[in-house]
Amino acid sequence: MTGDRRRALPAVGTLLELDAVRTLLTQAPRDLVTDVVRSVIDDARHRLVDTPDNVDWGQLITERLAQRRTPSLRPVINATGVVLHTNLGRAPLARVALDAMRDVASGFSNLEYDIDSGERGSRHRHCADLLCELTGADDAMVVNNCAAALVLALNTVSDGRDAVISRGELVEIGGSFRVPDIMSKSGARLVEVGTTNRTHLDDYRRALTPETGAIVSVHRSNFALEGFVASVSAAALAPLAHASGVPLLHDFGSGLMLDLSAWGLTGEPTARDAVRGGAALVMMSGDKLLGGPQAGIIVGRAAMIDALRRNPLARALRVDKLTLSALEATLMLYREPERAVREIPALAMLTATAGSLVARAEELVTALQSRGITSAIVETEASVGGGAFPTARIPSIALALSAASASRVEARLREAPVPVVGRIANGRVLLDLRGILPDTEPLLLSAIERALP
Ligand SMILES: *Cc1c(COP(=O)(O)O)cnc(C)c1O
Repeated sequence: MTGDRRRALPAVGTLLELDAVRTLLTQAPRDLVTDVVRSVIDDARHRLVDTPDNVDWGQLITERLAQRRTPSLRPVINATGVVLHTNLGRAPLARVALDAMRDVASGFSNLEYDIDSGERGSRHRHCADLLCELTGADDAMVVNNCAAALVLALNTVSDGRDAVISRGELVEIGGSFRVPDIMSKSGARLVEVGTTNRTHLDDYRRALTPETGAIVSVHRSNFALEGFVASVSAAALAPLAHASGVPLLHDFGSGLMLDLSAWGLTGEPTARDAVRGGAALVMMSGDKLLGGPQAGIIVGRAAMIDALRRNPLARALRVDKLTLSALEATLMLYREPERAVREIPALAMLTATAGSLVARAEELVTALQSRGITSAIVETEASVGGGAFPTARIPSIALALSAASASRVEARLREAPVPVVGRIANGRVLLDLRGILPDTEPLLLSAIERALP
């Protein structure tokens, strides 16, 4: 039977003669279309259940070609209620950051050129003064991401030496970032102190030897320890580090630059707080609460930052011009905190009032109604994501879509030209407005219209 079906498969040349495929040949390179035709026949040979007579080859080929021409990395609408969703690219960039990137990317720049002297300059100068101004640190440097920052810092001060860290901070942040793995790759020997739930200053003190290269303090970004717990903050470790002449490396993760307690987000240190805490180096991500591009920001003592810059690894972990331009433009917004909250999308989303979300939801419900679609408004809880404020629940609003099969609708929303990623709760599809950028609402509406039966 399989043999019969195989015999019935058309040849590549035959399919290339179909009207639909000839049209495709006017739109796409012949090699690509031929390759697609071959892959469709191949799939038919291996997987087709239907008999080839009933197959609309033209349509199959058209669809497959469209798939192949769709970029792998593309925009989606984040309706998950997790604002800084690591799987969805974390922070969207501010308009000024996009403009800065385009300006720098579309031509040449002074990336490593000193315009005043007409001589070679350093890429590490960009953003450094601004970061010092905003955090109160002596010097600063930008690398590829926070994981890179930690590797570079540890390798510079503790290669082949002991790095002391609490067992309560040997955390995993996202699937591919485990603090102990990163630390050992840096060449530092991990010395664990304390227990999972309790670590005291004395535990650190007893671990210090002439072999100690660093004391490391890592923010437990994505979970909270409750109950019988004790830990030593970076600020409380600083005097011990100072007295023993061992650098304290503080990875505080989020990159929070402004106090957000007015919006109910409390308990995370700002970058300025972290610097004031007295660590030799403070490390953070650029694309979490800072709301900028993926980057690892290191601020701290000038001599230490200078040593990082001279480490040959700095070359491998260096940041590119697009990132630097976007980061600088984002950081400049922080000179005017109100403007930062308004224009940095991550902050605007996190601080939007529930009332403003209700108003947007009502307009969406009305717009859907005019297309014959019934939806409801429900109260939800959103979260910050990106490993920050792990226990914070932000009151939010979602559009609820009812259908015979919620999972079918959820899947169809992901098939939209700009896929919508929502969630299912109590048999309904919930589209949380907190992470949806207002200017993507027209795309959201058409995706919903397409997805409902
Ligand atoms: C998120 C996080 C990291 C990893 O940051 P990347 O910029 O994604 O490399 C490291 N440490 C802490 C404490 C974090 O929260």
